[in-house]
Amino acid sequence: MPVMRVALDTPLRRTFDYLAGEGVAHPGARVRVPFGRRQLVGIVLEAAATSDVPREKLKRIAELIDPEPVLDAELLALLRWAAEYYHHPIGEVLFAALPKLAREGATSRALREVWVATTDGVAAHESDGLQRAPRQREVLAALVASDGLDSEALVALGGGARDAIHALVKRGWAASQSAPATGADPESTARAAAPVTASPFTLTAEQAAAVDAIDGGRGRFGAFLLHGITGSGKTEVYLRLVERVLARGERALVLVPEIGLTPQLVGRFAARFSVPMATLHSALTGTARLAAWRDALSGRARIVLGTRSAVFAPLSQLGLIVIDEEHDASFKQHEGGFRYSARDIAVMRAQRAGVPIVLGTATPSLESLHNAQLGRYARLALPRRAGEALPPRLALVDLRAEALRNGLSTTVAEAMRRHLAERGQVLVFLNRRGYAPTLACTSCGWIAGCTACDARLTVYARAARLKCHHCGADAPLPARCPQCGYEVRAVGQGTERVEETLATLFPETTLARLDRDVVRRDEELHAVLARVASGEARILVGTQMVTKGHDFPEVTLAVVLNADHGLFSTDFRAAERLAQTIVQVAGRSGRGTRPGEVLIQTEYPEHPLLVSLLARGYEGFAETALAERQAAGWPPYGRLAALRASALTLHEAVEFLGEARRSMAAPRAIKLLGPAPAAMARRADRFHAQLLVESSDRAALHRFLDAWLPQAESLPSARRVRWALDVDPLELF
Ligand code: ADP
Ligand code: ZN
Repeated sequence: MPVMRVALDTPLRRTFDYLAGEGVAHPGARVRVPFGRRQLVGIVLEAAATSDVPREKLKRIAELIDPEPVLDAELLALLRWAAEYYHHPIGEVLFAALPKLAREGATSRALREVWVATTDGVAAHESDGLQRAPRQREVLAALVASDGLDSEALVALGGGARDAIHALVKRGWAASQSAPATGADPESTARAAAPVTASPFTLTAEQAAAVDAIDGGRGRFGAFLLHGITGSGKTEVYLRLVERVLARGERALVLVPEIGLTPQLVGRFAARFSVPMATLHSALTGTARLAAWRDALSGRARIVLGTRSAVFAPLSQLGLIVIDEEHDASFKQHEGGFRYSARDIAVMRAQRAGVPIVLGTATPSLESLHNAQLGRYARLALPRRAGEALPPRLALVDLRAEALRNGLSTTVAEAMRRHLAERGQVLVFLNRRGYAPTLACTSCGWIAGCTACDARLTVYARAARLKCHHCGADAPLPARCPQCGYEVRAVGQGTERVEETLATLFPETTLARLDRDVVRRDEELHAVLARVASGEARILVGTQMVTKGHDFPEVTLAVVLNADHGLFSTDFRAAERLAQTIVQVAGRSGRGTRPGEVLIQTEYPEHPLLVSLLARGYEGFAETALAERQAAGWPPYGRLAALRASALTLHEAVEFLGEARRSMAAPRAIKLLGPAPAAMARRADRFHAQLLVESSDRAALHRFLDAWLPQAESLPSARRVRWALDVDPLELF
């Protein structure tokens, strides 16, 4: 009987050997195995001839969950590569590729809900017992005549069928059941000519060239950086490419930053293609996520559209990968154990599958620009806006020279008045939630701080609360200083306060606000966006959320209230993020036929970053920034990994990192920096510290990590802290 190597969902850097039980356990299939006194779900990695465990001690696989692998050979190989690259235990990596319910052993077969008539229902139908409810009578007749109706069949029965079903279920005359999903023959669906709604316009010359270049590379790997300014028609390029992929009977994987933030993108895919589409994102319930995953696995879904973890979606006959807004930080998992970049894994996936990948953005990450310069990515430019729209005009507003009203300069207020009078809409961006970032005493200098974090509490005036954005602490807003009893004052601006200020300045104008405090769920987000799209709301105030991909043709003015947070940061990527935000906000303006204007408030109008950005656009900025990175040896020129630790005392966190550093002599190619406390060391009553590992030689870095991590892991101090390795970290804090 062969030995099977099985991966379990544990942080142990090893696999577990079992004897094959009954039936064939394919690599990539889930099994149930005894583990101590429990049974665990495992994933078969491979069959082996021998085991280090004596044969009589080996236990048997208790149950085969999947007759067919849920991770095919290609995906399994990709995940094994990821486990090595991120130096993370294989079990946790494999399980990260499955939705939660699948990790717990839920069947991988696609099921659908169908309604059937019960015995009582059949009897009622025969005695014609529904004279006074004609709709229920019709639906009951349809149930009796069929062997079950699913929700599509219900829709076909016309209005009120759903209500009728619920009434019948209440009477006990109908019941719902699970049945295997139809359309289970993916090949026949795949062969059917891709059902496409005609594209509404002819492509511009640049769009057509991009489509031809990428599609010309079909059947083999190629990475394409689609650098198109906002509104240049990148999405249209994706749609045309997917159209061709579908026509060939292949499938497409489309990754987006946060699906809730780009409802328009999902809408455009759904409007263009009538093929089954699976959307995978974190806001889904466990069952919905499982259903979408099953649709991808069974091949029913021809397009998989999802956020970060969708990079691991099972997809046969993959023909294309698209990453929209490739620069977006949400593609990086920066929490938990397995910290990966979905963008980088997607490039590797495309390479292994031998298919093209498109990385689209108006503001490429410096990594991707660098890859394009090295010739690893082919750069395709869409330098003009599609349709008639002109690029917006950018200008700086010097805050030192202006009278301010709650953070709003006269120049900005006047510009807003002008644009609103001309029936334009105005977008105001501020990267701060709440009413004000600080509550201070006007007499003794007391400042409201969090007792669990090295952070100030944010003022929420309308709710009369003080909240910590780092640990969630929430307290009543004090009326007086708890230290001296004198008056307290909210200092600085948050979106709530800006909304209030604008409401007094423009009492006749309808405002909408968009941030994580006002919209927590997708429906609320859609409602706010709909108010702006319909033109009802004329001013939209918000955080980062307003910068993501929405297409509001009537917005003619975009305002960046404060650009200065990003100019002076300890994080070497802060400048890049600021430039991206400014360009993205600017991209929201003037997407229709009227030209847009962008005003950026700053106290540092001579800052080289802002100057190069304004004079030479994002590319000018990127050139300056890349030169700085090269001089400092930061990514993309150097390679980084961060060993992070947190503990109940700073001492313990730093001690572990210090011992880890001393546990092995680093070769000359490797530079170790730290340990050092994080910029905000105390968060939710835990102390954070980090040790940076840097090298200009990627292979040397990984060789070092391979040898070093097991050493660090086996230190006694490792057990007193929580630690994680972050390869290619995006944020240093
Ligand atoms: P991006 O994704 O680059 O921001 P979109 O694909 O959303 O750009 O295109 C911006 C706007 O231009 C959309 O309203 C889109 O419908 C329109 N558009 C795209 N391509 C064309 C084209 N070839 N001709 C006319 N309008 C276009
Ligand atoms: Zn806190």
